[in-house]
Amino acid sequence: MKITVVGCTGSMSGPNSSASSYLIQADDGTRTWSIICDLGPGSMGQLLNHLDPRDLDAIAISHCHADHMVDLVGMHVYRRWHPQGALGPVLCIGPSVTRDRVRGTDGTTAEETYDTEFTFVTAQHGHSITVGPMTITPFDALHPVEAYGYRIEGPSVDGGRVTMAYTGDTDSCDTITQMAQGVDFLLSEAAFTEQHDPVRGMHLTGRRAGELAQEAGVGRLVLTHIQPWTDTNIPLAEAREVFDGPIDVATAESQWML
Ligand SMILES: [Zn+2]
Ligand SMILES: [Zn+2]
Repeated sequence: MKITVVGCTGSMSGPNSSASSYLIQADDGTRTWSIICDLGPGSMGQLLNHLDPRDLDAIAISHCHADHMVDLVGMHVYRRWHPQGALGPVLCIGPSVTRDRVRGTDGTTAEETYDTEFTFVTAQHGHSITVGPMTITPFDALHPVEAYGYRIEGPSVDGGRVTMAYTGDTDSCDTITQMAQGVDFLLSEAAFTEQHDPVRGMHLTGRRAGELAQEAGVGRLVLTHIQPWTDTNIPLAEAREVFDGPIDVATAESQWML
């Protein structure tokens, strides 16, 4: 399984990266299968550096805040109007409101279904969907809107199986701990810092991301969704206080092979 950071800046695009978007790929022996988790502002263009959208097998949207989904409109335009012909529909797993939110962002009416670009499937906690050699399972997240984290299991480079999980946006909660249980790789948001953000029910801090990784016993923690105004060393130091394992901070184009 290969994980590529297409974009990782929190809450908006940043000076060195587009907003949230992560490409998860695995080979089944005949071809490479590709899932993109979130398509935040600027990510559609950056994705073109890594993948021909013709080869995309599924999109998984964590929630419909703008910083995670507005580039679905770009994906729609690319798929419908490509001069060499329409690309056809791609599976799009996400909140029940995803189609409506694409309409709102795009400025279209209820007659626009986007069915020729997307096969919308509403995420359901614990209900796995198979994408080639990978399975993707949504878990309820704790955020002010309908939100999910995703656990993805697939083949490892050495012929075994590996599991990764992506928190989306969430505060600490039992279902996200359940999602992260024993994964090899946890991509966790750390949008808040302990010093500046007392608000609960919205985001993890670096410390709470570290606590999640420690409690779930993950193999590696990668912190992401850090805003441009935050020094990444702050959430990193917070996470290091509570998690014993390896920790990275996501940057655009970072890759891991599992
Ligand atoms: Zn966000
Ligand atoms: Zn959000």
